[in-house]
Amino acid sequence: MARMGRLGRADIDPRFESDVLKYPVKLNVDACLQCGVCGGSCPVAFSMDYTPRELVELVKLGLKEKALSCRAIWICTGCNVCSDRCPEDVNPSEILNSLRALAFKSGFKVPEMFLKMMENLLSYGWIYEVDEFTNEDRADRGLPQLKPPSLDSLKKMMEATWPRGD
Ligand code: SF4
Ligand code: SF4
Repeated sequence: MARMGRLGRADIDPRFESDVLKYPVKLNVDACLQCGVCGGSCPVAFSMDYTPRELVELVKLGLKEKALSCRAIWICTGCNVCSDRCPEDVNPSEILNSLRALAFKSGFKVPEMFLKMMENLLSYGWIYEVDEFTNEDRADRGLPQLKPPSLDSLKKMMEATWPRGD
């Protein structure tokens, strides 16, 4: 990771890995072999500043600032190929989810598009407003009507995937 520049002790947050592991899904950060299968399989790695393999390493090294301020965590499409192919069940795609949640919670810059989608989800239950026109159009095409999901269950789901602790 030549682009990391000079790093010192002050750049290391010893609690970072345990914060990432608070995400309520099994993550095996320490089992990573740095084999690169995840980055080699990722369809959008070419546009990331850190590949999934490098992000796992940043977590192991405690380089919180680098990991939470990078572009890659917002470029990830969530396709899960990296986790499917990882030989050690490290679960890199969920590690990126945990990093996104921590970035938001810790006040790092979140792309406007994600903030808007969150706002819409909490208001309508969808990432965009399903209005009367949408449903009339669907009816004309013989498609079923879209009914918003329960906002309560959505909020519970969001709370359940929020990193625990302070
Ligand atoms: S996360 Fe898995 S696939 Fe990626 S470098 Fe580590 S062991 Fe290899
Ligand atoms: S889940 Fe994200 S990091 Fe993993 S392969 Fe898909 S786009 Fe790449």
